[in-house]
Amino acid sequence: VKRAGRHDFRFFTAAMQQRAARHLQVVNALRYALEREQMHVVYQPQVSLKTGRIVGAEALLRWSTPELGVVSPAEFIPAAEESGLIVAIGDWVLRQAVRQARGWLDAGFPPMVMAVNLSAIQFRTADLPSHVAQVLYEEGLPPEYLELELTEGVAVQDPQGAIATMNQLHDRGIRMSIDDFGTGFSSLSHLKKFKVYKLKIDQSFVRDISTDSEDKAIVSAIINMARSLGLTTIAEGVETVEQLEFLREQDCDEMQGYHFSKPLTPDAFRALLER
Ligand code: C2E
Ligand code: CA
Ligand code: CA
Ligand code: CA
Repeated sequence: VKRAGRHDFRFFTAAMQQRAARHLQVVNALRYALEREQMHVVYQPQVSLKTGRIVGAEALLRWSTPELGVVSPAEFIPAAEESGLIVAIGDWVLRQAVRQARGWLDAGFPPMVMAVNLSAIQFRTADLPSHVAQVLYEEGLPPEYLELELTEGVAVQDPQGAIATMNQLHDRGIRMSIDDFGTGFSSLSHLKKFKVYKLKIDQSFVRDISTDSEDKAIVSAIINMARSLGLTTIAEGVETVEQLEFLREQDCDEMQGYHFSKPLTPDAFRALLER
């Protein structure tokens, strides 16, 4: 038993060392990612379940380097948050997305909402509301075309501060949605105080919606609660027609997922809008 234990321990530390080295490599490379133009933004359509039309797009960040290849957001976003680089990177994404939204309006496509993910760290930076307003102003996009996707994590440390920031964003006409809804715990008690517009039902509930009766019940409860609070609902990670049909039965407002489209480059998104 002892020998096996020691062996496990050694194996464990080697794996940990490897992970720490990789982490360091990622953080170091992140510092130069923007100036070396290694990042780009892709856009995933958000579709109305009533009309089947594209009503929005979520901006999602992509990164690859010659040394590391493609690094997934699941890896580099946490690294960017820990190192504080998320503020500059997130700011760049916001600028790109707002500019893109303005571009599609200028091209004559029907108005849609541009959704941008905001890290809790970005959310807590001083002057966030006036900064976002400034970007909108500089790019010439009316605030109602922007939606900030926040997770429940923004309110964990300082609920009062979060509510104050949300009030300021709301007063400036900027919409907010709660991302990954259902995975946090604070959700229900705070929902009333948060000036959110939309709930994004987490894809972990959507995945087994057509077979798992508990997931069915959860999604249905979220949609009903949202309706009674006057909130819009969007389901994430919709991959099959069965999931889509259940969501439609439940009167979910919108959906996003591979069933309709993967995240697209600006050119591919434009081609989709033209169809
Ligand atoms: P998220 O905000 O929950 O974004 C949804 C994720 O689900 C995206 O992964 C998207 O590509 C993926 N997805 C969309 N449709 C489907 C589907 O039908 N099936 C499955 N299995 N997945 C689907 P992605 O792009 O890898 O991003 C992962 C996470 O990284 C995001 O989760 C978000 O938390 C974070 N992230 C991405 N871009 C940004 C950003 O610009 N800023 C910040 N702060 N976070 C970002
Ligand atoms: Ca999101
Ligand atoms: Ca999500
Ligand atoms: Ca997520």
